[in-house]
Amino acid sequence: MLTFRQYLRPQTLDEAYALCQKRANLVLGGMLWLKMQNRTVDTVIDLCDLGLDQVEDLGEEWRIGAMVSLRTLETHPGLAASTHGAMADCLCHIVGVQFRNLATVGGSIYGRFGFSDPLTLFLALEAVVELHHAGDVPLADFVNQPYERDILTHVRLPKHPGRVAYLAQRNTATDFPVLTCAVAVGESGARCAIGARPMKACLVKLDLPESITPETAAAAGDRVAEQVTFGSNLRAGADYRRAICRVLVRRALLGCKEEE
Ligand SMILES: Cc1cc2nc3c(=O)[nH]c(=O)nc-3n(C[C@H](O)[C@H](O)[C@H](O)COP(=O)(O)OP(=O)(O)OC[C@H]3O[C@@H](n4cnc5c(N)ncnc54)[C@H](O)[C@@H]3O)c2cc1C
Repeated sequence: MLTFRQYLRPQTLDEAYALCQKRANLVLGGMLWLKMQNRTVDTVIDLCDLGLDQVEDLGEEWRIGAMVSLRTLETHPGLAASTHGAMADCLCHIVGVQFRNLATVGGSIYGRFGFSDPLTLFLALEAVVELHHAGDVPLADFVNQPYERDILTHVRLPKHPGRVAYLAQRNTATDFPVLTCAVAVGESGARCAIGARPMKACLVKLDLPESITPETAAAAGDRVAEQVTFGSNLRAGADYRRAICRVLVRRALLGCKEEE
């Protein structure tokens, strides 16, 4: 159980940032991951008064506030159009609707969980994370950075990332994924993110010929599976994950082809 002495709702980001510099204090998202921990802290910092619950249209980008729920992303028509439905494909298997109504983008991306579905998709989309103190950081860098005491305020996603597909393998519905795979094929090239390896998601640049065929998609799947490092945990072994990776990358690329 998470136990705390004081609950605060700062009225400015500077105030929230100052509070979170103390080791005994803790920033809250939806609190769904935090409440699973046995931990006692002095003060919890709720960001709910800071207006971070909006999805903004910046023209060429979407700017998603840290307190936006996963369910809002899943059902957002603009994000659905930008990602060709991959946003909902990525989020719809996470536990259940009530859960996704509470879990936040900030908690999910700041947490950088190895099993994370949105971390995988956002990496392939070349997301940029906005931190109150550190400023803009490409997610590809943020994913491997240490857990600094900062406030994640927004995540920005390109509005036209090209063709996108998201696939994940689960042993059983609503469980943590065994492997996650997101592919984006755009003007700046093709990218593939593989997560739940079970380590944190990683990004692979794909060298694809002009048109995607069953053969070129299969060859790309083989290359990604050989390039990425996999590990074993109670859900699956490394070799199984590698085998699944080949299949998911191939299917995701063929899914992108169907969007052409
Ligand atoms: C039982 C269970 C099953 C799950 N299954 C899946 C799954 O299948 N796929 C998947 O992708 N995810 C899964 N998740 C993770 C879930 O989707 C959320 O990512 C997770 O709960 C964190 O979101 P939250 O809003 O609850 O964050 P919290 O639990 O409130 O916070 C998580 C961490 O982020 C920090 N934090 C929160 N917001 C900010 C911020 N704005 N700035 C800085 N730090 C911040 C907190 O201090 C904490 O360290 C699961 C979680 C649980 C509990």
